[in-house]
Amino acid sequence: MPQDFDYRPEVQLPAAPSYGFGNCACHRESGGGIQRSRRIFTGLLGASALLPAWASEGVEVGKTSVLTRFVSAEGIESAGAQNYQQMMVKANQQRALAPANHPQLLRLRAIAERIIAQSFTWNPRAKQWRWEVNLIADPQLNAFCMPGGKIAFFYGILEKLKLSDDEVATIMGHEVAHALREHARERMAKTNATRLGAGVLSSLLGLGNVGDAVLGMGGQLLTLTFSREDESEADLVGMELAARAGYDPAAGVSLWQKMSAGGKSAPPQWLSTHPAGPTRIRDIEANLPKVQGLYDRAEKPKQRFEVAPPLPRRAAPG
Ligand SMILES: [Zn+2]
Repeated sequence: MPQDFDYRPEVQLPAAPSYGFGNCACHRESGGGIQRSRRIFTGLLGASALLPAWASEGVEVGKTSVLTRFVSAEGIESAGAQNYQQMMVKANQQRALAPANHPQLLRLRAIAERIIAQSFTWNPRAKQWRWEVNLIADPQLNAFCMPGGKIAFFYGILEKLKLSDDEVATIMGHEVAHALREHARERMAKTNATRLGAGVLSSLLGLGNVGDAVLGMGGQLLTLTFSREDESEADLVGMELAARAGYDPAAGVSLWQKMSAGGKSAPPQWLSTHPAGPTRIRDIEANLPKVQGLYDRAEKPKQRFEVAPPLPRRAAPG
């Protein structure tokens, strides 16, 4: 299971079978992809002179490591899709996959649609991704976006942190930023470069077997943790995505305060990958001015959604 935003809840809730979306037949719905909205000025991207001034406004990030090319984008995206599919099938079998009409899933998809519309300038491949958004009835505080745009939220993070739409957008922006900036691809390339050595990598490249190597890495996606640099980059890019999508980027501050309060009982590995301390919050505050103008001018969402209520207890089987 991806470690992002993942930590043990303070209060142990009942395990999956008693914490779910009920027993109706609509759980068979496997949560279809959402239609990405078309960007009006996609065709103008090459002609920056024609863009409004704010198109070049925003956060600054570093270059991607050259090692990244040792793992193919297609390979990591298909590994992501496979992993995601397996997780969703399992959740569906446990009746823990939110039906398409669940209010909190509608909420996630509405927010995702706005964020995705802002994503293509960060990674042109994102236009072809078959984006998916699903909600899993699980008490963990967790959310992720796998390579290729496969997003999932765990109900626990919505419910226990009582996230506002702006805070949901902050988390989603952060997760989508990991995918757009190909942090998983870079991490796997680095991990495997260390393990296999450059010779093996070059022969893999020469033989065109990179796809097989990536398939073998599929399992790693489930346990992947990102570096602090990747985390910091995801915070910044996520903040800009949210701001351009019309969500208040200052929500990053309240979000991480909630995370910090809720993370006191978190295991050390979570804190090491998601330090929710004053440094992170200070970095977010320091970067707010770079995206404030984008937010001020962005078209705001017309619909606002309710904070996630506690999930009803499932009726006892039989
Ligand atoms: Zn992260």
